[in-house]
Amino acid sequence: MTPTTTITFLGTADAVPEAGRDVASFVINGTHLVDTGWCGTAQMMRFGLDPLQIKTIILTHCHQDHYLGLPQFFFYWAQRWHSGMGKPSLTIIGPGDLPDVMEATRVFLMVDRYPRYAWKPDIRVIQPGETIQADDFSLAACQTRHPVDGRCYRFTDRRTGATVAFTGDTAYHEPIAEHVRGCDLLIHDATFPHDYPRPDLERDGHSTAVDAARIAQRAAVRRLILLHYQQTRCEESLARAAQVFPNVSFAREGQTVDVQPS
Ligand SMILES: [Zn+2]
Ligand SMILES: [Zn+2]
Repeated sequence: MTPTTTITFLGTADAVPEAGRDVASFVINGTHLVDTGWCGTAQMMRFGLDPLQIKTIILTHCHQDHYLGLPQFFFYWAQRWHSGMGKPSLTIIGPGDLPDVMEATRVFLMVDRYPRYAWKPDIRVIQPGETIQADDFSLAACQTRHPVDGRCYRFTDRRTGATVAFTGDTAYHEPIAEHVRGCDLLIHDATFPHDYPRPDLERDGHSTAVDAARIAQRAAVRRLILLHYQQTRCEESLARAAQVFPNVSFAREGQTVDVQPS
């Protein structure tokens, strides 16, 4: 069977969840988890994915809404992984404060008292301009515009050739357009309504749907999906964004998107 590149959205909200709506997180090909949400592990099972199949966790940055789900994930693995499955193998990729987050996760799980949670994943800090090569993908990073060190990634699926870029949290930042140029899918921060005051967007390091559309248009990507958003005035924001870049939608929780290479 011809392989396809799939994205499954586990959550779509900004910083805090709402009833029935987790914060922004998604899975690529059922095996690579991007940010962990608040409840990413439970969300995977809800949408028919197996958390034990995750081989890579990619963190866009280390704000809490993007890594809070890490302890739950490790706890689940420690409970469910059994010797017949071999040695657990997991790589975690993220910016410079990733080792601190991993150490905090181990402290939170009290690994000294509960050694079964003590296994260490392979930790890979990625710098802007760097590319990580894995068996089935390559991952190139650039800097975002956010109050903490963040990465926008360009993920290339080696099996299909499809390219998916995702910004994590960022204000409008034109260098991102260069980094994601020509991608088959761009997943971009769209936290605030289209008319949110520009100084506040700069202060908070977030985008509107129209900002995301401007990047998509500038980068000539094929499709734009908006993520990490508040549900205020979405229809109006989407209409405004579509005037700039027509092939745009808001991500929906549980939605799976097939990405075809161009
Ligand atoms: Zn966030
Ligand atoms: Zn953030």
